[in-house]
Parts: sequence; C-alpha cells; structure tokens
Amino acid sequence: MAKINFNNMNLTERDSQNIWHPYTQHKTSKPPIAIVKGEGALLWDENGKEYIDAIASWWVNPFGHSNRFIADAIYKQLTTLEHVLFGGFTHEPAVVLSEKLLEILPKNQNKIFFSDNGSTAVEVAIKVAFQFFYNKNEQKTTLIAFENAFHGDTFAAMAASGISFYTQAFEGMFIDVVRIPVPIKGQEEASFLALRNAINNNNCAGFIFEPLVQGAAGMVMYEPESLDELIRICQENKVLTIADEVMTGFGKTGKTFACDYLKTQPDMICLSKALTGGTIPMAITTFTNAIFEGFYDDDINKALFHGHTFTANPTGCAAALASLELLQTPEMQLNINRIHQKHLVFQNHIKNHPKVATTRVRGVIFALEIKSENQEAYYGNLRNQLYDFFIENGIVLRPVGNIVYILPPYIISDEQLNKVYAVIENAFEII
Ligand SMILES: *Cc1c(COP(=O)(O)O)cnc(C)c1O
Repeated sequence: MAKINFNNMNLTERDSQNIWHPYTQHKTSKPPIAIVKGEGALLWDENGKEYIDAIASWWVNPFGHSNRFIADAIYKQLTTLEHVLFGGFTHEPAVVLSEKLLEILPKNQNKIFFSDNGSTAVEVAIKVAFQFFYNKNEQKTTLIAFENAFHGDTFAAMAASGISFYTQAFEGMFIDVVRIPVPIKGQEEASFLALRNAINNNNCAGFIFEPLVQGAAGMVMYEPESLDELIRICQENKVLTIADEVMTGFGKTGKTFACDYLKTQPDMICLSKALTGGTIPMAITTFTNAIFEGFYDDDINKALFHGHTFTANPTGCAAALASLELLQTPEMQLNINRIHQKHLVFQNHIKNHPKVATTRVRGVIFALEIKSENQEAYYGNLRNQLYDFFIENGIVLRPVGNIVYILPPYIISDEQLNKVYAVIENAFEII
C-alpha cells in the first residue's frame, strides 16, 4: 500500500483514514468536524468556525469547556498522586468525594461504588440487584424497565434499554427484561398496572428507570408523583429500585438530582455524565446500607466481584470534587434557574407555532416535538436535515427523530441561548 502523506491532509481527512466513530454509518454519514478548542459554551473547529455547544457535549459539561478551576484541581492531583489501584488501597480524593456525595444524595444512600462510565454504573447496579437475591438463595432473574429507556451500550445496560435500533442485532442474547409503559400524562394507570402485572408474573429482582426525564428517547418527561407510586409498588413487593441519574444528575432537572423531587427513594442510584464536569470519564453507583449488608458476610463468594482497572481514579475524583464545588456555588444555582426561566419564555413563544406538536421543560432541559405525518426515524431524513441546518448555523444540537432538545452548559450566556432559540425557530422555515 502506498504510504499516506499526512502533511497536506486536515484533521477530518486524517481521522477518516483510521478512526471508527460511535453511532456512525461511515459509508453514508458526513465526515466528523475537527474541534481544536473549547471555552465556556463555545467550540471552534479547525477552520476557525465557532459553534455554541447547546447539548453540553452529550450532557457532560455544565460548567463550560476548558474550565480553569477544574483544570487546576486535575493538575494538582496529577502531580500529587495520578492513580493508584483501588483493590486494597484508598486515597483522599475518593474518601472526600464519597463524603461530599453522600451529604447531597438522598438520605437513604450510604455506600459508593466507583466505575468508569454510565453503562458500567448501570451494569454494576443490575449485577448487584441479581446477586443481592442470589446471596439469599432466592431465584430472581428478571429486570423491569421502561419502554424507550436508554441505559447504555454494554450488555446488561443494552438489555435494559428499549430503543430497538441500538440493540436489535443482539435480541435473544439478553437477560430477561419486562418492559412497562412510561407514566406520561394520561398513561399513569396503565404504567402502574403493567408494573403490578410484571411483578406478579415474573421473579423480578429490580426495576430500573431514568427518573423524570428519558434522555435518549428525546427528553420524554413524566411527573414525580407517578414515579413515587411505581417505587412504592416495588417496595411493597421487595423489588429493588435503580434510578439511572446518569443524564439527570447534578442539576439538569433544576434540583441536584431528579430523585430530589420524590417522596420515596430508590435503593440504588447511577451517576456519571456531569460528575467530573465533562473532563475525566468516571461513574458512581450508590447503594443503601440494606443492599450493602446483603453482600457483607464471612463467605467470600457473597462479595461483589466487580471492578475496573481505573476504579476511583484519583484524578477523576479530584475533578468530581471541583465540579461539585462549582455546582454548589450560588452563581451556578442562579444560572440553572435563569436557563429554566428563559426556557419557559421560549416555550410560551413557540408552543403555538404551526409546526410544533408539543413542548416540554424540566430544569435546564427544553424539548419540542415537530409535527410530522409519519413516525420519524431516530436518525431519519428530518433529523439529518435539522442537524445539518444547526451545524451550518454554528449550533451543536442533535435532534432525536422529530424532537429537538436543548440541554446547555449552565454558564451559557443569555445572548448565546437566544441565538440557539432563534436558529431553532429559523429551522422551521426549511422543513
Ligand atoms: C448516557 C447514558 C448512559 C450511558 O452512559 P455512557 O457513559 O455513555 O456509557 C446510561 N444511562 C443514561 C440515562 C444515559 O443518558
């Protein structure tokens, strides 16, 4: 093969020589945009074009790109103790992070387990649910999950997910999952009934859900009272509950966690995405004491034999601690409320537009559904047309089928947010 001369290729061209991208059909999709710099809510590509990151780079970055405060904390940790194995060892960043997190998590949460990403946080929770009963010699091998759920791309997380094009190649290879409808407005009773039926007809170990907002489904929203009822049904029937807060955690819903809207509390909580402010991949699964005690025994076989090489990486923990500090500043809380209020104003303005079917807002999350005759494919034509229009206009938004949503970094300015709204409104002219 002829040797490739990289000198006269740009980053996008060099990428296409070697790199396989996520969720990408390389034969039909456009080449990726090469980003060379990020600051605050802005990104710049290799040609100098500027973009507003209106989805916080897949929901991970609340405090802005290249945040100095987090960067300094990371540098300090990297030059003190960058990493140490977590089997048989511990370190201050992990200890302090566990203390700080348990202070702000729902009061019934007592134990912190570290892993690397949202999928692994979910994987850990599902394994714990099954092994909790196995340790008690109880056969419970079914999981309950919502329709259109998204919990990640590893095997158990995929099994729990209900968006079929992510998972269809693997149907038949999954753990048993019973799916119930999401209790959106008008569907609450059907959801409660389906949960009762699922529990009565199967040996269910756990129920996993995205609390209040289903992100990947297109920001599908439902009310805390409904989730309280579903959790109560599980509690009555000794089914463990797993709140997947990977997307909703750390302020997205207007409160620190979506579970803060509940009267009941789940047994386990999965965290990742915004945990480190979008800097270092890390995840946490949290548990009640009751769950932990189900593994606490003289018998080594009752331990949780799950771990990852980089479990509780000190640098990741330091980034998470800095992020938590930023989240808790009055300034950041004001930002969250400011974005929420602006979303409400935009919602009011846009909801009667002839091309808008429905709109919804929770915290800093805004979503609108575009009227369409047919069921729009997740990565269909309408979606691609919208995506390209947003990119041309310097806005990073990734519509889901006919749903356009905004989930901006909390530090986005009013002016930047107004531009995002304006470009969305302009997009109605081209479809
Ligand atoms: C993104 C996401 C995951 C998966 O996280 P990864 O870090 O991509 O593995 C799991 N659950 C929810 C709710 C998510 O939004």
